Amino acid sequence: MIYTIERIATLIGAHRFGKSNAGIGFVLTDSRSLCFPEETLFFAIKSERNDGHNYILELYRRGVRNFVVETVPGNSLADYPDANFLKVSDTRKALQRLAERHRDAFDIPIIGITGSNGKTMVKEWLYQLLSPQMTVTRSPRSYNSQIGVPLSVWLMNEHTQLGVFEAGISKQGEMQALRDIIQPTIAVLTNLGAAHRENFKSQEDKCREKLTLFNDAKVLVFNADDSVVTKVMAEKTYKGERLDWSRNSSSVAFYVKTTEKSETATNITYIYKGEESTYSLPFIDEASVVNSIICALICRYLGVDANTLNQRMQRLEPVAMRLEVKEGQRGCTLINDSYNSDINSLDIALDFMNRRPDHKERRRTLILSDIQQSGEKPAQLYREVSDLVNKRGVEKFIGIGPQLCSQQACIEMNDKNFFPSVSDFIHSETFTSLHDEVILLKGARNFGFDHLTELMVQKVHETTLEVNLNALVDNLNYYRSMMKPNTKLVCMIKADGYGAGAVEIAKTLQDHRVDYLAVAVADEGVTLRKNGITSSIMIMNPEMTAFKTMFDYDLEPEVYSFRLLEALIKAAEKEGITDYPVHIKLDTGMHRLGFDPETDIDQLIKRLHNQNALIPRSVFSHFVGADADTFDSFSRLQFDRFEQASTKLQAAFSHKILRHIDNSAGIEHFPDRQLDMCRLGLGLYGINPRTNAIINNVCTLKTTILQLRNVPTGDTVGYSRRGEITRDSVIAAIPIGYADGLNRHLGNRRAYCLVNGQKAPYVGNICMDVAMIDVTGIACKEGDSVEIFGDHLPVTTLSEILETIPYEVLTGISNRVNKVYFQD
Ligand SMILES: *Cc1c(COP(=O)(O)O)cnc(C)c1O
Repeated sequence: MIYTIERIATLIGAHRFGKSNAGIGFVLTDSRSLCFPEETLFFAIKSERNDGHNYILELYRRGVRNFVVETVPGNSLADYPDANFLKVSDTRKALQRLAERHRDAFDIPIIGITGSNGKTMVKEWLYQLLSPQMTVTRSPRSYNSQIGVPLSVWLMNEHTQLGVFEAGISKQGEMQALRDIIQPTIAVLTNLGAAHRENFKSQEDKCREKLTLFNDAKVLVFNADDSVVTKVMAEKTYKGERLDWSRNSSSVAFYVKTTEKSETATNITYIYKGEESTYSLPFIDEASVVNSIICALICRYLGVDANTLNQRMQRLEPVAMRLEVKEGQRGCTLINDSYNSDINSLDIALDFMNRRPDHKERRRTLILSDIQQSGEKPAQLYREVSDLVNKRGVEKFIGIGPQLCSQQACIEMNDKNFFPSVSDFIHSETFTSLHDEVILLKGARNFGFDHLTELMVQKVHETTLEVNLNALVDNLNYYRSMMKPNTKLVCMIKADGYGAGAVEIAKTLQDHRVDYLAVAVADEGVTLRKNGITSSIMIMNPEMTAFKTMFDYDLEPEVYSFRLLEALIKAAEKEGITDYPVHIKLDTGMHRLGFDPETDIDQLIKRLHNQNALIPRSVFSHFVGADADTFDSFSRLQFDRFEQASTKLQAAFSHKILRHIDNSAGIEHFPDRQLDMCRLGLGLYGINPRTNAIINNVCTLKTTILQLRNVPTGDTVGYSRRGEITRDSVIAAIPIGYADGLNRHLGNRRAYCLVNGQKAPYVGNICMDVAMIDVTGIACKEGDSVEIFGDHLPVTTLSEILETIPYEVLTGISNRVNKVYFQD
């Protein structure tokens, strides 16, 4: 659906500057995601740390002509001759207003879903259940925020017969805007949960805020067994029809009479409109059961009969909510997205691939399965796909499925191949010749893409470190929220990103515009550059032998001694380099490395003035104990020394020298010492160094059960007969040992891991590659997943048992452990 710019100006009540005609098909809030410049309307939105207005010039150069702004850029006529600026007082509100007006154009059922958990699963399952009979437009992934919701609603078009949108809130007062945009005819509350409670006075308050979504909806879907929800529902008169469900009371719209679980499925018997029916769900976990009930009742309400519902329920697929990045074979990187295949989620995945910097030489390849149920004619759909993949820089296209095979003429690309099925592809030369490519795998599950990924990953070791990139970004923002908006940030990714893998972490941080990355040695910096990282990089421990490498790769060394300084000057002069940025380290009390702030500073200034090969870019020092109050007076002393010396250094130069001393603990504990820049380390990886509490967990170390056996009382387990068995036990062997970084001191029941959520202690000595755990009384089978530390077992539990710091546990994980990066 195309809107003229004229019409949009009217809809959002903007004052228009510029007279060019334009048809708008796309709205954009993040300049990095630009795809179709001519048809794009950019909303310049201000946030605390960023301002969309700063990207207008760049976007104009890239072909964007239409902007919604709060201030029209200075010389708009001269600098932007054929642009249109729509001036409004609040660009975020204008985006929401536009989405509202777009929504008004549809007289179709619209489902709005809120709740603490399960929103995405309910949305995706409704899509799976209803798309056989109607064209469904839904929020891509979990676009459920104040900006995500308007962008989602904007995706409805002339084919849409049903809209399904998520609404997520984190604080009071946010739901009204989302309600006005979605205007749900069917409003759903999945559950209340405990998430985000900190921003609400009480559970009732949180419930009231969520139920704002119910205002003016025709139909209200909620769990009548939740006493908080029923209490809040009773406070207010909702006009809508109540479609409540319960497992306890039959006086509701949808009574769940029984749920019977087998090994692999749950049979759910319910009474709806006086009639008893059953459906079978191919899942047994509680969250899936609850979410399926919500879906069942909405489907029945929308006219799906009991039989059809049962058939479709049995075909439900698990919802993959994450994009995964894995190392593939023969120099390939795999980006795996098994999220339902549709054009909107394809675009998001391509955007993700595009935004991850990479070697120039590596080709970008897309392996795509048929896209089902788009509501569009296949030829039209695949022409759109072709357009999109070309704009998004894909150089090689591999299509899998009968529909793509028959529509291959629609895909305009030199390097393209088509196969009826995954197995045809696997046995082809196209498959065996894949090398040094960044490959996006985007396939509907029923095409067997899981098998394809398995064949393509490099390491098959069952022990995996899962790295949650969303959590990393949340931690970044958490620390940024404690900093003044102008304070710069260095992110420490030394020791391979505290064990999480420096390259992928750096890609994410660069995408979020951090000012500096810091690694320990030059080689780590080179690896980042070879993987396309262009951010400024600091080298904390530069080796005398690596100067040339640093110059070649634009890596900025720390300088901590006169010996190092002289050697660097000499090396730079030899290369004819001038003004090479360096970072001066002062020793204010750590007594590790650094110039003496009292005795060295005059000589340092003199030497720096006497040459022009190097230029001090920053000056810094490091606290010895920002993590504990006991050292507060020593920290004060360190700060005073730093303050004095760094002020003197700055005064000796006319250019700005950035001053920094706070690390993660300091950002929080000494906010008034943040100066020009802070250095964030452990906090980024989700651990509060002062309390050992988890902020947002980033790393989860997982493995699987290899073998189970019964061991009778009196026997022993493992080397040296240390694991004495004092009751008849079930012992599981897991493929992780001290060579993987599982510290041997955790053995002999000092620590435990989690098997299906239950604590399983390590029995006997931990071996090199294998450990044994006690799973007596825990329901589990061979192949089940085991959490060593992570989302449910904080890494700090292990570091405390080991009487060490979490840094050591994280950085001790061996390189042979697979790393998988994911993002929602
Ligand atoms: C590692 C390091 C940091 C980060 O410390 P955290 O405690 O992880 O925040 C800061 N500065 C220097 C010099 C470091 O070496």
